[in-house]
Amino acid sequence: MNKYNGKSVFKGIAIGKISVYKKGEQLVKRTRIEDTQAEIKRYKDAVSEATRQLQDLYDKALKEVGEANAAIFEIHQMMLEDDGYEESVVNIIESQNMNAEYAVATTGDNFSQMFAAMDDEYMRGRAADVKDISERLITILSGKSQSGVSADEPVIVVALDLAPSETVQMDKEKVLSFVTVEGSLNSHTAILARTMSIPSLIGTNMPLDDTVDGKLGIVDGENGCIYVDPDEETIKIMTKKKEEDDNKKLLLQKLKGKENVTLDGQKVKLYANIGNIKDLALVLQNDASGIGLFRSEFIYLDKDDYPTEEEQFTIYKTVVETMAGKQVIIRTLDIGADKQCDYFNMDKEANPALGYRAIRICLTRPEVFKTQLRALFRASAFGNLAIMYPMITSTWEVEEIKRIEQEVKDELTKENIPFGNPQSGIMIETPAAVIISRALAKMVDFFSIGTNDLTQYTLAIDRQNPKLDKFYDAHHPAILEMIRMVVENAHKEGIWAGICGELGADTELTRDFLAMGVDELSVSPGSVLPIRKIIVETDVKEYIKNSGAK
Ligand code: PEP
Ligand code: MG
Repeated sequence: MNKYNGKSVFKGIAIGKISVYKKGEQLVKRTRIEDTQAEIKRYKDAVSEATRQLQDLYDKALKEVGEANAAIFEIHQMMLEDDGYEESVVNIIESQNMNAEYAVATTGDNFSQMFAAMDDEYMRGRAADVKDISERLITILSGKSQSGVSADEPVIVVALDLAPSETVQMDKEKVLSFVTVEGSLNSHTAILARTMSIPSLIGTNMPLDDTVDGKLGIVDGENGCIYVDPDEETIKIMTKKKEEDDNKKLLLQKLKGKENVTLDGQKVKLYANIGNIKDLALVLQNDASGIGLFRSEFIYLDKDDYPTEEEQFTIYKTVVETMAGKQVIIRTLDIGADKQCDYFNMDKEANPALGYRAIRICLTRPEVFKTQLRALFRASAFGNLAIMYPMITSTWEVEEIKRIEQEVKDELTKENIPFGNPQSGIMIETPAAVIISRALAKMVDFFSIGTNDLTQYTLAIDRQNPKLDKFYDAHHPAILEMIRMVVENAHKEGIWAGICGELGADTELTRDFLAMGVDELSVSPGSVLPIRKIIVETDVKEYIKNSGAK
């Protein structure tokens, strides 16, 4: 038995035969041609055929994985029409008297190397795409057909890398799992694998030869590894794990697609919290109706320097596109306290939780704040994005935020850069914000109660100090009363109020939150379906009558 580790793109367990996927190896011959115009025409005909194929793939993907994920084939079509790419091919044919296959292969290599050398991670990911369209053109020019998985039973597909078109072209019934040696978490292939809910690994350092091909494999998406030729003991353990996994999924599956509505008709938004683009798979898998809290500071924590506008824009755009019209609430950076970033060069503080954090940094470092806002406003043109501001204590902070939002919009308008019309909300996570929530509600589109910090600041207990766990009581009547008050004030001013702190996932309180009229619960993806179960089984009016809840 051999075990190889990789990075998990999608959790789950797959057991089956391994099939090493080899690309339709394209040995391109370098041939001298005389009639360059005829060769250019041959190239242009191949481009038309490739465009037609990509349209078919787009239609297929649209049905299988939705519009946002099918968009990659539109991007490929656009790449095919790219002037630079075409100029390079035509130039090689004309100036070197070379055949179209050679001109395409050379252009494809050059462009993909150029993308691979770029600083921007998203652009590096496009290297695989340009290779993909070049392979397609060469296949068409040489009159061959595209390769695929040709197994009669479902297999674990192991490959060096997989282009998005290869992934989507595979017969899903025949694929138990994808495992690749290369690949990036941001690649469209990874996004597609997540959307398809297929256990997948990337960056798996394993051979692609006969020591693997045709052998029994077990992919453990939970622990990010694959066992090749596993021993009896491992098979037994993993089969049991898979059975448990399947049973759990089966039970919860029944709740997928169901509306979050109580027996007496009270509707609730049941959203998910994420900290990373990688968590999107879980959001989709658990059928959350939106994202209620994207902790954007993790983008900053992941880096050695400030993330650029472009880097952030790409991430936010991917999230809203993947969520395909469902609401995505992105919280502006909440650096400080326990989340320190060296490159922010902040002074040491005696009481960091009470110090320079979140909106306080943003309002005093407008250049950092505006970079993020520009990225957010730009991404809002691509989906249902809302912006949420953390650690609010005063109305002047919201006025200042609005002024800066307007500045950003004016700048983008001047630069002719499109942006949408995102909703603006605030987190209610300080006692001050609770007390003035009626006034705040007049200024924003929604509230989201951050019970983690609200508990810390209300009970004067450092949430980071494990010795104080006994005193950190999120069920404290003061906290529950504050939640009730915030919801009431929000409703008086016609806006909605939700909970995105950990307390929102506390199933002991779900009925009480419903009774209070909480409009939204945003919880970790794995908590979505268990909470949906309570919602659909509750009659709120009955509950209020029987429990005496207010
Ligand atoms: C909270 O304070 O409840 C919250 C959701 O924000 P964070 O946990 O990221 O501080
Ligand atoms: Mg907080």
